[in-house]
Amino acid sequence: MPVRRRRSSQLSVGCPLFPRETDVRFHLACVTCDQTYDGLALRYRCDCGGTLDVVHDLDRLRGKLSTATFDSRKLSRERLDKSGVWRFRELILDVEPEHVVTKPEGNTNLYEAPKVASWVGLDALQLKHEGENPTGSFKDRGMTGGVTAAKRLGATRVACASTGNTSASMASYASQAGMEALVFIPDGKIAYGKLSQALAYGARTAQIAGDFDAAMALVQELCAAENIYLLNSVNPFRIEGQKAIGFEILQDLGWEVPDWIVLPGGNLGNNSALSKGLSELYALGFIDKLPRMAVIQAAGANPLAQAYAAGTEALSPVAAKTLATAIQIGNPVSWEKSWRGIRQLDGVVAQVSDQEILDAKAQVDAQGIGAEPASCATVAGIKKLVAEGVIAPDAHVVGILTGHLLKDPDIVVGYHQSTLEGFDSPYANAPTRIGATLADVKAWLEG
Ligand SMILES: *Cc1c(COP(=O)(O)O)cnc(C)c1O
Ligand SMILES: [Zn+2]
Repeated sequence: MPVRRRRSSQLSVGCPLFPRETDVRFHLACVTCDQTYDGLALRYRCDCGGTLDVVHDLDRLRGKLSTATFDSRKLSRERLDKSGVWRFRELILDVEPEHVVTKPEGNTNLYEAPKVASWVGLDALQLKHEGENPTGSFKDRGMTGGVTAAKRLGATRVACASTGNTSASMASYASQAGMEALVFIPDGKIAYGKLSQALAYGARTAQIAGDFDAAMALVQELCAAENIYLLNSVNPFRIEGQKAIGFEILQDLGWEVPDWIVLPGGNLGNNSALSKGLSELYALGFIDKLPRMAVIQAAGANPLAQAYAAGTEALSPVAAKTLATAIQIGNPVSWEKSWRGIRQLDGVVAQVSDQEILDAKAQVDAQGIGAEPASCATVAGIKKLVAEGVIAPDAHVVGILTGHLLKDPDIVVGYHQSTLEGFDSPYANAPTRIGATLADVKAWLEG
């Protein structure tokens, strides 16, 4: 596809870090109007306001690349090959290796979860645990892409608005890359497990008097005015990195395509990434069919689920409230990309209550795997879709767990001690206070 360039507007929008034409082998395209831009144009949105995709030249890759390439790299000790993102680099971000900022990330386990399977009504269930990434969430896959783009563009400062896993991941990768990290957190409830990471990794953190939307607006204004690179998930290179979750699931399965891949949806970047990546593999002929996808939202933060149920693609923002803070988003940025992916993968959208999320989490945790609340919307959603007959009991289902158990220990302890206000704890495993003698212990064991 020819790249129609818009030099003048390119200079006026986004951060003026690297406003010149490049010769990279990918370009940016608007999801809304198809306008294209240079691959490393410094912009996060189209002139029309639409979000941007990275478009790879798949024709050039055909015949030069195969699943065998990816499999042989998995055995290699080379720096990029060891990453569960950069092993697939031609489909991520084709830049010079010296610009790649990798820890490495990915290489997460795909667990068999038989107890969870029988709880949700499936013969078998596999869970891809993205909480096993370096900073404890899948955000690392996106951030290695985003920070690499920042380095390629010559940025020395990066910023995001977040109280969560994005800021934890950005702070860590920025530190590794020698960049200054600016984190803007809104007023109100802060997830301390995640905020503590941002502080510990050295991000300059500002708490602003306003909500998340205010923090987001401020950081975009700041990035446009100063030489600062924006790393919220509107950044298309984060989406490219996150595609590797799907690549890795298929590699884990020997390139055999499961019937379903199920994941939570908040800002909707991750499901957009999954469908984009798998559609590219399919277009390249690396897989012979596409899996179906189920996106699960919390009932208190459900704009996509509401629109899906109403049979419309028009999203109405909601005032989001869920205890799964990582998906507490009422006005998701990647909704257009989501619909495209849902169409491509014959997807469905479901919603689950916080109680269902908590109970699913108790099951995932008790399987010895463990994940943060938002991740467990996946399992609650699978249970619901099996009960509704959407997912067959004998289907091959892979659920994605997005973040680590220890991100949110308050909820774990609250659930098991039955102190979460407004919630039941049917699967509580509470500690017992006993005396300090062997007789007390024996009585406790027998009781
Ligand atoms: C960011 C995040 C999500 C939501 O992903 P989106 O791309 O915003 O839909 C879900 N779970 C965890 C743990 C996250 O950090
Ligand atoms: Zn556009």
